[in-house]
Amino acid sequence: AKSVHQIQSGQVIVDLCSVAKELIENSLDAGATSVEVRFRNNGLDAIEVQDNGSGISPANYDSIALKHYTSKLSSYEDLSNLQTFGFRGEALSSLCALSKFSVTTAQAEEAPKGKRLEFDVSGKLKSATLVACQKGTTATVEAIFESLPVRRKELAKNIKREYGKVLALLQAYACVCVNVKFTVKNTMPKGKSVTVFSTKANATTRENIANVYGAKTLAALVPLDLELEFRPTLTQLVHKDKTQSRIHVKGHISKPVFGEGRQTPDRQMFFVNGRPCGLPQIAKAINEVYKAFNVSQSPFIFADLQMDTNAYDVNVSPDKRTILLHDSAALIENLKVAL
Ligand code: ADP
Ligand code: MG
Repeated sequence: AKSVHQIQSGQVIVDLCSVAKELIENSLDAGATSVEVRFRNNGLDAIEVQDNGSGISPANYDSIALKHYTSKLSSYEDLSNLQTFGFRGEALSSLCALSKFSVTTAQAEEAPKGKRLEFDVSGKLKSATLVACQKGTTATVEAIFESLPVRRKELAKNIKREYGKVLALLQAYACVCVNVKFTVKNTMPKGKSVTVFSTKANATTRENIANVYGAKTLAALVPLDLELEFRPTLTQLVHKDKTQSRIHVKGHISKPVFGEGRQTPDRQMFFVNGRPCGLPQIAKAINEVYKAFNVSQSPFIFADLQMDTNAYDVNVSPDKRTILLHDSAALIENLKVAL
């Protein structure tokens, strides 16, 4: 019988994208300036994320993969002022329940030695072995969804598409994280490791876009810079508070190409305050504007929606990917007009 823990874990880690997202955000939370993502067999065999961040303190080895353990939240009030991606302590515990999970880590004072940590399905530390290790952390997820055979079979069947989705997500992180060098590699069975793309540290968004999508894509871009407004909420009206209803859309969009084109939705990246997220309604609105002007190709979009943290809620789904904007209808109307 499947345990409750496995079923709950399957709601936190729903696909390859959730695996990559959770591991990368842990690396970014650890202050990494270099993140390398390595796939084996498009991710079906393994996803591994190596960073040069802080490493994990030996005092925390026992607890990191236990359910609800997090080192990132010290009080309940902290929740309203989050500086990190993680705070729920569910990712590593879920990955233990769903895959063969291990970590190799070293803090500055231990490097070039570190520990390889293995965990059982409940997240309990099974073993800690001394190994050679640079400062930072490598998290390895092998045979994801092994413990949920139906989902594993589904993933294997759709692996090409799932791999495409996870690459699109990695491209978004690589473009937006200007302080971080990103490298993505894939190795097929019996094949050699192939670098899919890489960026440099301390680059601009434009340089990152060129490295990820090519110079031709970059050449077709114009800046996107729009000030929009939400309809204020009742509370804001009562308090005459306008600060929360303003929103700044900043980024890059491709110039209209008229005539025959192709659909390229995987080149549309959205962020809310610098965090990658899916905003299908906004994408649809922009594509509709392009269509209305007889542009057959949907544009390349890199758009960061900068707004007050009270204007949205990331905490609505366990995988933290769904973002609820408090008034998307008005926003979309304003966006169309502004475009
Ligand atoms: P959360 O990110 O919500 O705290 P996770 O389950 O993702 O929960 O991670 C649990 C803990 O493991 C983190 O709070 C952190 O202390 C540690 N950890 C995980 N990945 C890394 C990493 N790449 N570098 C440093 N510490 C990490
Ligand atoms: Mg995390």
